Amino acid sequence: MSLFVETLYRGYGQAFQQSAQCFSLDTGFQQLSIFDNPILGRVMTLDGVVQTTEKDEFIYHEMLTHVPMLAHPNPKRVLIIGGGDGGILREVLRHPTVEQVILVEIDAAVIEMAKQYFPAHSAGAFEDARTRIVIADGVQYVNESKEMFDVIISDSTDPYGPGEVLFSADFYTAIRARLNAVGIFVAQNGVPFFQLDELKDTVQRFAPLFVDSTFFTAAVPTYIGGVMALAWGATDASLRQTSLTQIQARYAQRGVHTRYYTPQMHLASFALPNYIAQAIAATIA
Ligand code: SAM
Repeated sequence: MSLFVETLYRGYGQAFQQSAQCFSLDTGFQQLSIFDNPILGRVMTLDGVVQTTEKDEFIYHEMLTHVPMLAHPNPKRVLIIGGGDGGILREVLRHPTVEQVILVEIDAAVIEMAKQYFPAHSAGAFEDARTRIVIADGVQYVNESKEMFDVIISDSTDPYGPGEVLFSADFYTAIRARLNAVGIFVAQNGVPFFQLDELKDTVQRFAPLFVDSTFFTAAVPTYIGGVMALAWGATDASLRQTSLTQIQARYAQRGVHTRYYTPQMHLASFALPNYIAQAIAATIA
């Protein structure tokens, strides 16, 4: 029996039995590995860090997508940075308001392998008429693009290797310039129990750019260490104040079906554990 041991943290990690090794390749950007596990199903890792598993992917993809998409009154144009496994794209396309989604992924191999080994993640989303795939560095794309968006979602790896630039002030500044007057930007921001400095960095970098910035959370079993922080930056403070009744109405009107996200979870996810709230307050003080 072979074991995959995650190397994200020194001195602590999770191990997966590998019942079958499907694939492993240095793509030129990162080491992409895919294997089967008897409990979590198929698992993708990049540079030794778990990216997604068949069993728990719905939690992260639903929360990172539907919180901004249902807080926005009419999201038509959406930008996804990263997200090569297709899970975020699948969830964005559930909204009938969406007219176009541009997905900017630096590594084409991730998309190709995800289509082959994780077909349920994208579930045809890559072939949807509203989808446009751009193979490029996300920071380069947002610096050169003139396109404007209602919702932007950064579904990147951790801030090491190719993903590092997607946590920079330059990147966030360029993102802000791509948002329409009513716009929301959300980004995966690590597990604060182990990566609190990453969250503090984002607090500092978002503050000068967004009228309203904070975090919401989701408990993703294979992003170990407790809740994952998802960064929120909005052009209008009222978006986060959208009422439960309004979120419920949009959820029903748009016919979005979910297994983790609920309108109640939407609002509750912005309630932060005190150690996170205190870290945010201390950073902006
Ligand atoms: N859900 C995962 C998480 O929270 O860690 C992320 C999954 S997704 C596979 C991450 C994607 O970000 C990968 O496909 C990777 O190639 C892509 N990526 C990393 N750096 C990038 C960059 N600078 N521009 C665009 N995509 C990037």
